Amino acid sequence: MTRARRFEPGPIHLLRLEQGEDLVDAITAYATSERIQAAWFTYLGAVSRAALRYYDQVEMAYRDFTIDEHLEVLSGVGNVSLKDGAPFVHTHAALGDAAGRAVGGHINQGCTVFSLEVRLEELSGEAPVRTLDEASGLSLWGLD
Ligand code: ZN
Repeated sequence: MTRARRFEPGPIHLLRLEQGEDLVDAITAYATSERIQAAWFTYLGAVSRAALRYYDQVEMAYRDFTIDEHLEVLSGVGNVSLKDGAPFVHTHAALGDAAGRAVGGHINQGCTVFSLEVRLEELSGEAPVRTLDEASGLSLWGLD
């Protein structure tokens, strides 16, 4: 059954990430410093290297891979919730290469920002907490 919780819109933050920053680490550091526990965000820009992961639903295991190319971030989306008591960033993105081909996946640590513009909307309410879901093997929101 679908689980849900209501939130009220909070402040909207615009972030400009700098060249050389790690995409996931930079957003996590911002959320931590601003004490943001629940948020939804989108972003666009470019990375000079991508680190992605794909979840194999049969093996219930992640497959990590990297792309050592300059890529456009065509569309990035993500959220902030709590895991182990700290803000946790979960994000996926579609990336484009020089020929306009798209690749994408779950964004791992190791994505090096060339430039990135982020629109992060804080959500006001009891923050979702991630816990292990036995059925999927994933760390999912414990909503009620
Ligand atoms: Zn993911």
